[in-house]
Amino acid sequence: MALVLDSDDAEPETRHRACWYGRRSPELPALLTVQTIEDGQLLYCAHPMLFPIVGYDFDIRNCTGCDAFKPQLSRRM
Ligand code: SF4
Repeated sequence: MALVLDSDDAEPETRHRACWYGRRSPELPALLTVQTIEDGQLLYCAHPMLFPIVGYDFDIRNCTGCDAFKPQLSRRM
């Protein structure tokens, strides 16, 4: 079943989960500021234009209205 989610109205976590660049890491930062931890993992963006700048200090609110959103073509439900 294909899941395509590119609505700007979606919650940032939902959009991050549906985006090909949305990644997770089990390595948690010592100091939490804008980062989001979900299910014990750090959410970040691996987009080549964003990751070199913000790295793991990613604010998931960037997913809302992000022009670089790339939907995953399929996902097991
Ligand atoms: S910031 Fe954009 S490219 Fe990065 S995970 Fe969120 S929607 Fe995807």
